[in-house]
Amino acid sequence: MKYDRKPCPSSPGMPVLQGRPLSGNAPSPKRAARLSHYLFLGRGDYLLSDVPLDRIDPKWRRAAEVSADPADWSFSWNLDAWRRKLDALKSLGAERLYLVMNGFELPYPSRKHPQLVEPDHVNVTHEFLQSALDHAARIGLEVVAGFSTTGHCDRALQVYPDLAGVHADGQRWKCAMCHNHPQAQLFVFDVLDEVLDRYQGFSGVFLHPPEVGEYCHCIHCAKTYRSETGRDLAEQDEAGRMSWFWQTGMTFLSSLYDRIRARNAHLDLYSCTIPGVWRRHFDAIAPLLPPDIKLIHWRYGRFDDAARNQLGSDLRLFTAHGHRVSFANSVIFACSSMTDAELRENNRVVNRFVQGFGVDEIVYFVGPVWKQERIAAGSVSPE
Ligand SMILES: [Zn+2]
Repeated sequence: MKYDRKPCPSSPGMPVLQGRPLSGNAPSPKRAARLSHYLFLGRGDYLLSDVPLDRIDPKWRRAAEVSADPADWSFSWNLDAWRRKLDALKSLGAERLYLVMNGFELPYPSRKHPQLVEPDHVNVTHEFLQSALDHAARIGLEVVAGFSTTGHCDRALQVYPDLAGVHADGQRWKCAMCHNHPQAQLFVFDVLDEVLDRYQGFSGVFLHPPEVGEYCHCIHCAKTYRSETGRDLAEQDEAGRMSWFWQTGMTFLSSLYDRIRARNAHLDLYSCTIPGVWRRHFDAIAPLLPPDIKLIHWRYGRFDDAARNQLGSDLRLFTAHGHRVSFANSVIFACSSMTDAELRENNRVVNRFVQGFGVDEIVYFVGPVWKQERIAAGSVSPE
């Protein structure tokens, strides 16, 4: 829910505008929406633990988004620090926290994949997460466990390169597995099962589909297609191959939801949109997404006329198959060029706009870096 990183293929071409662009003002909001935040337990998909904080990709160095001070990064926080952060979110009006449990590496002492952990993460060296979750429950803050499924898994692909998707030229993807590879599916099961076994008290599970804008060329995709259709995948045109790849992705995602339901039928289930791809293929993949899955649609940055038209089009599309939709704003990413006051007004206007489309939850993206004043300024309560 961030962006398409190189060298994974980015979403192809310009977004396709679906439906009729909006003109004039947005519909009026109907009711107050829930306020939530989205935070990484560890470094998430920002950087690997062996990359110094001051060596982070220049696009992330903007002062409002990253910091060279480890104390600002969630991987360095102990239980007391987490309690203070959870209290701070609650004081901003947050009712729910989406806590991303993996990413490039694993911010917990994994027994199944110990070579993938963030070795300096405090939850690895002095495990505290269960106590933090207990604190969240005490103060009335729901916590949803988030997982990046087959995407954002750079360290795992260094250790298990054969699980990666494949480009047209035969090169392996660098940041996403192929969901049609049986061993990749087992890897996702491992992470999901281990976290849900290890920690108790989550109110739900959020599954982030991979942010890839290219279909996969691996032998497992070819084999799966042949077994489904009796035909050769290469005979499909570009649009058909992309649509089929995402249909198989949605089928895998649905199997993960079934797996979660079998463990605990009371967990709320979430996913998010991958707008650059889903705008073109949502009508084909939406019927495979169970209707009780809540989608988080996201867009960060300034809300100009072009953004307004695109967002209105997106929200009509992503609500068209009956799924409830939340909306993710940012208080960090892509907002650096705004002053605190501009960010606050920007988010207020966006919130009002999306609520007009039935959005009943605003999720503020924080990521792995805590900037107290910025978070307070940007976390506008929905009206
Ligand atoms: Zn594949």
